[in-house]
Amino acid sequence: MSSKLQSVKGMNDLLPTQSPYWQFVEQVLREIASAYAYDEIRTPILEKTALFVQSIGEQTDIVEKEMFAFEDAGGEFLCMRPENTASVVRAGVQHGLFHNTQARLWYMGPMFRRERPQKGRYRQFSQFGMEAVGWSGAEADVEVMLAGARIWKALGVKDVHLYLNSLGSDGCRTRYRTALVDFLKQHVDALDADSSRRLESNPLRILDSKNPDTQRILEDAPVITDYLDAEESAHFAQVRHLLDDARVAYTIDSSLVRGLDYYTSTVFEWKTAKLGAQNTICAGGRYDDLVERRGGQSTPACGFAMGIERLVELLIEEQNALRIKALDVWFISLDTEANQAAFRLAEKLRDTGLTVAMNHGVGKLKSQLKKADASGAQFALILGSTELEQGVVQVKPLRGQFESQNVAFDAVLELIHSR
Ligand code: ATP
Ligand code: MG
Repeated sequence: MSSKLQSVKGMNDLLPTQSPYWQFVEQVLREIASAYAYDEIRTPILEKTALFVQSIGEQTDIVEKEMFAFEDAGGEFLCMRPENTASVVRAGVQHGLFHNTQARLWYMGPMFRRERPQKGRYRQFSQFGMEAVGWSGAEADVEVMLAGARIWKALGVKDVHLYLNSLGSDGCRTRYRTALVDFLKQHVDALDADSSRRLESNPLRILDSKNPDTQRILEDAPVITDYLDAEESAHFAQVRHLLDDARVAYTIDSSLVRGLDYYTSTVFEWKTAKLGAQNTICAGGRYDDLVERRGGQSTPACGFAMGIERLVELLIEEQNALRIKALDVWFISLDTEANQAAFRLAEKLRDTGLTVAMNHGVGKLKSQLKKADASGAQFALILGSTELEQGVVQVKPLRGQFESQNVAFDAVLELIHSR
């Protein structure tokens, strides 16, 4: 007996019961991206490993342990994309999309990270992202945040809250890093293992630690916003001002640092209280140095990435009723000859925009009607040899009030459309 192969760990099949939620979310995301005048970009799933190592940073979780990276048969080092901002910047530079001009881009698609699978955390997952490239002002930061707020509203998900911080420029971060390391060195014995390892390699990530003892130490740590220079402070103040003006509530969170090295200045996360530990559904910020680091002109940029699985889980959690379009017609034919006529008539119905499911082959009327009812269709059409002889089809309303009636082939369309 052959063994049944299963899917790869952490990589999920999306079944027909779930896909209506995905289609709904994807449609809302596309509509809102275009409401803000963002254009879609699609980049390959495989990229050179160096792109992510150099963009995201060597001392990050993603590059240290989460990438599906391999050497291909030709000796090239390739990687399944763990995120899409680096690829979008690579593509933009490669095709001159940012050259002396600005670009508003969005993307949607699968990303790959080899992390420990759990609810809200998978090895293949989908992100939607928006990137505003070429604007240095706070309007761009706030524009992508407002798009987020509009998305929650359109999806009908409540209690999603915005958290904000500013990481300043390189100079600011260097000064802050020194102060933070000086402070943490006084408490080095009480730090968790990961955090003391990061003290040298990536001290800002310690702020992210989930360890309660480390968190307690951090309560008295210096905060990065005290190290912003005048220009960075003004930018951050303008971000807050524009959010206030748009009536979007937010909380300043001085421990918000984001896991990726390319972030500068504003960083933000949208969180929900409803998904347990995996509660961040959208995260982003400025990455003013990345375009230049990828070989382009010096170009300011900002954006976000949103986890679609977590968004769908939230929709299901809140039991948002989906307006799924039901079938119009379930077509039942009772013998082979009728089957052929039904096949032709169904095509005519579809020509006029109706959705029609056929029972292929012939079946018992009673069991067919059960299936028709369960399908949610508005009408069952029934065609047997008697009807065929008379050139009529039986129209049986499955939801409506009126009685079943026999209708001439040519009149079926009119009847269904009129109901
Ligand atoms: P986390 O702290 O949850 O690991 P992250 O900082 O790694 O998130 P980003 O790389 O900024 O997350 O990705 C943005 C969003 O993508 C996250 O907020 C989340 O919604 C989603 N996301 C990230 N990793 C996963 C994953 N493995 N499975 C499902 N969704 C994910
Ligand atoms: Mg992560």
